Amino acid sequence: MTQALHTEFDDIAALRAALAERRVSARELAQSALSAIDAARDLNAFVQVDAELTLAQADAADAALARGDAAGPLAGVPIAHKDVFVTRGWRTTAASKMLANYVSPFDATVVERLHTAGAVSLGKLNCDEFAMGSSNENSAFGPTRNPWDTRAVPGGSSGGSAAAVAAGLVIGATGTDTGGSIRQPASLCGVSGIKPTYGTVSRYGMIAYGSSLDQGGPMARSARDLVELLDPMTGFDERDSTSATHCHGEVNAPGRVRSAFDAARRDGSAPLAGLRIGVPREFFGAGLASDVAQAIDAALGQLEALGAVRVEVSLPRTELSIPAYYVIATAEASSNLSRYDAVRFGHRAAQYTDIADMTARSRAEGFGAEVQRRILTGTYVLSHGYYDAYYLQAQRIRRLIAQDFQGVLGSQCDVIAGPACPTVAWNLGEKSDDPIAMYLADIYTLAVNLAGLPALSMPVGFGQGENARRPVGLQLIGTYFDEGRLLATADAYQQATDWHRRRPEHQA
Ligand code: GLN
Repeated sequence: MTQALHTEFDDIAALRAALAERRVSARELAQSALSAIDAARDLNAFVQVDAELTLAQADAADAALARGDAAGPLAGVPIAHKDVFVTRGWRTTAASKMLANYVSPFDATVVERLHTAGAVSLGKLNCDEFAMGSSNENSAFGPTRNPWDTRAVPGGSSGGSAAAVAAGLVIGATGTDTGGSIRQPASLCGVSGIKPTYGTVSRYGMIAYGSSLDQGGPMARSARDLVELLDPMTGFDERDSTSATHCHGEVNAPGRVRSAFDAARRDGSAPLAGLRIGVPREFFGAGLASDVAQAIDAALGQLEALGAVRVEVSLPRTELSIPAYYVIATAEASSNLSRYDAVRFGHRAAQYTDIADMTARSRAEGFGAEVQRRILTGTYVLSHGYYDAYYLQAQRIRRLIAQDFQGVLGSQCDVIAGPACPTVAWNLGEKSDDPIAMYLADIYTLAVNLAGLPALSMPVGFGQGENARRPVGLQLIGTYFDEGRLLATADAYQQATDWHRRRPEHQA
């Protein structure tokens, strides 16, 4: 059993208390996490560990804890980073051969902020190459496996993050979400994860995929732990021109998410009294697996039992989010990935004739098949003659999708709820030869990124029959900067249920 020491603690608050009272040390936690990671190598959740770097961070946290008031809110808490966040000391590969030996001279803002808060990094987590994928099978390091059933994918692209949290290897992890990559793997691995409002969390040092869609966020077991991790991650960053200075008049800085969460939380038997939950009818059409539909319906019933009111709403352009997203995301990717020219970064072919040949060969060797497919698609939709037909159309649809949400959130409902993914985790290899089938699995998550809204996924049950050990996630979508209310809603659900406490029986 991969039972790490830190899985004995209910949540980060309990862990913090134990650390503050010196019942456990950061070093002991880090050591037990390192051995759990080693014992769980079959999951392939980590692409890099470095005990020396980790233990040095743990010792620094212990020293701060011993001094008392010097310790940050996450001092000694074991986490790990998706390998698209650049890190000093650790290699940053984006799970690509292209960056196999890349070491960044600086830390991403998210990494730096969590480190300043005292978190101890256990290393770098597997993901789809350049965060492109929905199953983690596009990693140059091979796929991560789902701890609930190692025949299944963990979801993607933040599959290593989800699997590491689900298996109890770390208490929390960073992820990135361009079209669902935090929420969908959280759903498939039975953990909680939030994609904040675009601009809340700095993208500085997050390897770019689709810059107008990319947003970092935390993955953990519960909504309360998400608050603990998201709060210090957030904040304006002058090094990211799209980072928000204010959120509805409030300064975008650590403390905002926590106080919004506290303000939205209610005690008592009806903590969600008066909350209007919009259920989009388009999220329940053909394509939604019946076992997922049932688990989602039961979760909505539970939210009603806690006082919420269910209202049917319509997001008529849901289906269009797939073509619009896969035009915009690939267009931006083709531009972002042009920097890998074998001159400044990454892999360089051993043999070439001239500089153009060097770049072409290096890119052909360094990028995997899906990344090349995205670059080709993106270049095509941006090309002269097709720009109007594809890219411009997609931008128009994007605007309409954002308007659909704005027509519903606030006037008809306070939050939107539905599935995060149409099915439970599928088997490794099942969709890897069919990119379209893979893209369709993103149907419920993509529109949120196109609109820039915050959304989370939390575990609410399991599939049925042979899927009985494969988790189902409920997605909650909020209006701009409404992370506090989303997390408080999820917390009310989790205080009344125990799905988030279920553990896989993964044997190392
Ligand atoms: N599955 C989507 C894609 O492949 C989303 C990935 C992501 O959010 N990074 O683009």
